[in-house]
Amino acid sequence: MNERSSSAASPQTLVRPEILALSAYHVPPAAGMVKLDAMENPYRLPAEAARSVGRLAAETELNRYPDPSAAELKSVLRAAMGVPAGAELLLGNGSDEIIQIIAMALARPGATLLAPEPGFVMYRMIATFCGLRYVGVPLAEDFALDRAAVLAAMGAHRPAVVFLAWPNNPTGNLFDAGDVADIIRAAPGLVVVDEAYHAFAGASFMARLGEFPNLLVMRTLSKLGLAGLRLGLLAGAPAWLEEFDKLRLPYNINVLTQALAAQLLRDPRVLTDQAAAIIAERTVLLTALRGIPGVRAWDSAANFILLRVADAPGVFARLKAQGVLIKNLHGSHAQLANCLRVTVGTPEENARFIETLRQILSC
Ligand SMILES: *Cc1c(COP(=O)(O)O)cnc(C)c1O
Repeated sequence: MNERSSSAASPQTLVRPEILALSAYHVPPAAGMVKLDAMENPYRLPAEAARSVGRLAAETELNRYPDPSAAELKSVLRAAMGVPAGAELLLGNGSDEIIQIIAMALARPGATLLAPEPGFVMYRMIATFCGLRYVGVPLAEDFALDRAAVLAAMGAHRPAVVFLAWPNNPTGNLFDAGDVADIIRAAPGLVVVDEAYHAFAGASFMARLGEFPNLLVMRTLSKLGLAGLRLGLLAGAPAWLEEFDKLRLPYNINVLTQALAAQLLRDPRVLTDQAAAIIAERTVLLTALRGIPGVRAWDSAANFILLRVADAPGVFARLKAQGVLIKNLHGSHAQLANCLRVTVGTPEENARFIETLRQILSC
């Protein structure tokens, strides 16, 4: 018998048990559907901007490795995102990669990552990937931050890092800024304010970085209209970012992302105008939802709306059967029973969603 056939090697014997227990992040197929499930900006680039990035892509040296420090892109981002002078920047292949870098850096034995729940699912998943303990602290009834509960949980668990999505996903609300500041002050470790939805919120902790030595502000271009480029950024004190930068794989930001994102953000008006249109459409969508009997819809500071119906899985399935893909949150958290999340699309997409929902709920 040869060595191989006698080997007991199998995923079950070699892969870490906490990984075996995970299910993979599921992205449903969406070809041909009205796609309102993933908080993408529904608008393409205007023709002139599209042509100019096309020319730039053609000129890009695909045969060369990217600038490892992405210096040009960083300097454009500093201006576009209002990064304060004393702060350093770290770029990631999406902000998911930045969460992973932070978690890897802090994964001392017994270290804890804490976040309010219901919240962004990647905090828990990445904590598990990296061997951090994860503590979720329930939000209050109306999805407000339960300040006292977070302070108590920080006292009990001494987290190395707290993640606060601001606005929160999937609830869409902006936690009280005073509560967030109190949590940053009381935290025994780092606090990452995740501003993925900054473009739709009109509020930020970016300008306050200098006030809190343990604060990091994270953003992404994904929700702003460049989800396909995969670019996230982290701003904070150089002493922290220098350590995290050691874990960043070389060349994590590819040449096309560096060139195209820099070009598009040098004058970010194309993207911020689209964000303004989405904010206006959010109001139209919310009003329409609140006009449908049997729907409860929450206020949103993001580019999506959380709603509750009598039978979310049933409504989700019937929407999908009629070509409208949103997100079913039922079963993901006790506080999200019969909840759905819909991304704000174009006026036409939103009208199609509203019409289909109205039909489903009226019969
Ligand atoms: C979408 C999202 C992200 C991740 O975005 P990337 O595409 O990886 O940059 C991070 N945080 C929150 C709260 C999000 O909703």
